[in-house]
Amino acid sequence: MRILVVSTPVGSLGSGQGGGVELTAFALVAGLLRRGHQVSVLAAAGSVLPAACRRAQLWLESGVDQPSWQHRPQQSPVEIPAGGLLPRFWRRALGRQADVDVIVNLAYDWLPIWLTPHVATPIAHLISMGSVGQAMDAVIAEVAALHPERFAFHTAAQAADFALPGPPRLVGNGFDLSRYRFEPRPEPLLGWAGRVAPEKGLEDAAAVAAALDLPLAVWGLRQDAAYAERVEASVPPGTLQWRGFLPTEQLQAELGRCAVLLNTPKWNEAFGNVVVEAMACGVPVAAYARGGPGELVQPGVNGALASPDDRQALAEAVRRAQRIERAACRRWVEQHCSQEVFAGRIEAWLEAVTRGITSPQPPGPV
Ligand code: UDP
Repeated sequence: MRILVVSTPVGSLGSGQGGGVELTAFALVAGLLRRGHQVSVLAAAGSVLPAACRRAQLWLESGVDQPSWQHRPQQSPVEIPAGGLLPRFWRRALGRQADVDVIVNLAYDWLPIWLTPHVATPIAHLISMGSVGQAMDAVIAEVAALHPERFAFHTAAQAADFALPGPPRLVGNGFDLSRYRFEPRPEPLLGWAGRVAPEKGLEDAAAVAAALDLPLAVWGLRQDAAYAERVEASVPPGTLQWRGFLPTEQLQAELGRCAVLLNTPKWNEAFGNVVVEAMACGVPVAAYARGGPGELVQPGVNGALASPDDRQALAEAVRRAQRIERAACRRWVEQHCSQEVFAGRIEAWLEAVTRGITSPQPPGPV
């Protein structure tokens, strides 16, 4: 297939602004290239593709970032800033639609979904978040009623947020596991990774680390500086070790030293890349039983679960997770979340999209 992947209009690929979507974009492109497809990527100026994606054509556009839906009230109207990157992406994508078999949209935005029934070349949407805005819920429901095959989701918990006409297509997510080194020997250190923003619940991980008297290393972009300061002030000095936003190579080397990764989402996290990345390094995960992490963590196999927002239960989950065999975490990821497995699911989805198939979907990946 000739595939055009339209990236997120929130930050350039490699900046961290797009969160997990950036890693998904790389895995999807690298996996489809390896399966022999021809791939072009339309992304914000400044984007850099990793070596495994170099055979893709990279088309760059500049413009004003979209405001991300998860940081606005549920009733917010659709907003497109003057000089916005999103309409520029779609002007370019639609101008080239005759040259491709399918366009894959990675942006969680109204415009590309609304356009879908009015465009000759099929547009397939990999939805990256659960419900965070009424206007998005409505346009997904409306277009999915016409073209259910055009939508794919990461997990069942995420897809359950939307009004869909049938069972959702679940594709999980994929990781280039050669980039993650298994580390059998942990240090007395807990870890947390993600955008430092309220929906990620860092304050709960910090409180649990303080209660267990263990330091908590924090990796990720400080998206909300005032929130980061509030979390810092909520625990004894020295509890948090701010490590900054690191490229994957460095992140995995440091992540692997943790005894346990804590994952504490306050929202219906669509997947939870960092959960899988930690497991790939042999780090078991203690998470709230909510959203994607609640599906990825298999209690006793690769981590432990706690009732959402219950810090005491989370501390107990950390203790249980510490006893898990680290090699089992890595094995689980190899079986369920490799780039190859993911690319196979994406290919099957895009083949169904290009043939206009709406028949019942295969069961979920995990
Ligand atoms: N990440 C990174 N360096 C860091 C911390 C995080 O590259 O120092 C990446 C991580 O690899 C993951 C993403 O940030 O792909 C966070 O994705 P996740 O799905 O956990 O959450 P999201 O930000 O999409 O809500």
